[in-house]
Amino acid sequence: MRTPPEALSEILARAAPLDEELVSLSDALGRVLSRPVRAGRSLPPWDNAAMDGYAVRAREVVPGVPLTVQGVVAAGQVGPPLAPGSALRIMTGAPLPEGADAVIMREEATEEGGRVRFVRSPRPGDHVRRRGEDVAEGSEVLAAGAEIGPGEVGLLAALGRTLVEVHRRPQVSILSTGDELVPADRPLGPGQIVGSNAHALCAQVVQAGGLPRMVPFLPDDPEALRVGFGAALQADVVLSSGGVSVGEFDHVKEVLVGLGVQQHFWQVAMKPGKPLSFGTRQGVLVFGLPGNPASSMVSFELFVRPALRRMLGLPPSAAVRPRVPVRLRTPLQPDRRRVHFVRARLERASDGVLWAQPAAQQGSGMLRSMVGIHALLEVPPGEARLEPETELIAHLLVMV
Ligand code: AMP
Ligand code: MG
Repeated sequence: MRTPPEALSEILARAAPLDEELVSLSDALGRVLSRPVRAGRSLPPWDNAAMDGYAVRAREVVPGVPLTVQGVVAAGQVGPPLAPGSALRIMTGAPLPEGADAVIMREEATEEGGRVRFVRSPRPGDHVRRRGEDVAEGSEVLAAGAEIGPGEVGLLAALGRTLVEVHRRPQVSILSTGDELVPADRPLGPGQIVGSNAHALCAQVVQAGGLPRMVPFLPDDPEALRVGFGAALQADVVLSSGGVSVGEFDHVKEVLVGLGVQQHFWQVAMKPGKPLSFGTRQGVLVFGLPGNPASSMVSFELFVRPALRRMLGLPPSAAVRPRVPVRLRTPLQPDRRRVHFVRARLERASDGVLWAQPAAQQGSGMLRSMVGIHALLEVPPGEARLEPETELIAHLLVMV
């Protein structure tokens, strides 16, 4: 049996960034760069006005002494060179005219009859945005392994990069095993339940940046499982739920072995989600998640998501959820032997402290324990009840 950190490092050691593909900028959000991006141009591309006002030669400006207004330069125009003893009215973003070295804000100027006076003298460079002050041409602006967010999209667009090299998204087959499972749109017969895990796991895969493919539910029959898993292995990752514990009809483990999947471990010392099988076949990662809905989702968060994020191209440190210290709001009884990942809501107090309120019901079959939560609290095993204000580590599922 592995501890959670052992299991995670074993999984991450076998998950590598997938090969590269070229995507258009409009499809790049959430993807991870497979190579660094160098700036093919400077930003801004030329010196320009940071304010609406007057372009001047700083040394020619004496407070109260008028200069001739030579004309106006709008954004998108290139003005004439600045004549001696003159000022050019200029708009934000317009290129700084040749000869000018400062911009004086309109609010500090009085224009009358083609002449303008200023309240005070500027220093050279005032209200001027220099060529390359944001990005210097030729410099590396984004590193390989960087996730593309809205800011990165804007920067790439400004650099004229409409195609970017990113890692492929992992394709994830999602299998559900169990004679009792029916699709969500069917009425329930005696003993049947909806196989909701497939839907929850699909959503988790999408949220992690993967491409889910749902496979029809499989009965607890070794031959059917062999066929189903055989087809599902045509993917980067296989996720199955159910059939990995020690019940009489839990055939998943032996079926995987029969298909040549090399098994690395079967169990993790945690709650919920002790049954968790992890194996590989020729680079395909195969996770056998427990059937209980909360167990399957918690196991996904802790072990599958980091693997998917790594395959997407993120470095291992960025593939896992952020961990932060929080304080318990209400008392909590730890499990005696296993670390318990307690589903909780977080609330930030005005002094910055994050208070954790565990969901009322923590059973591994309780779907509601996964609703409206912000974090998984890592509760070490122990005998003594944890009192309010106890500090714990929270794995953040959302930014709070
Ligand atoms: P198992 O891991 O197959 O022993 O299943 C453990 C529990 O999870 C049982 O109560 C199953 O009915 C339930 N379960 C198994 N698979 C699913 C699924 N796909 N969706 C919802 N519940 C499931
Ligand atoms: Mg089952």
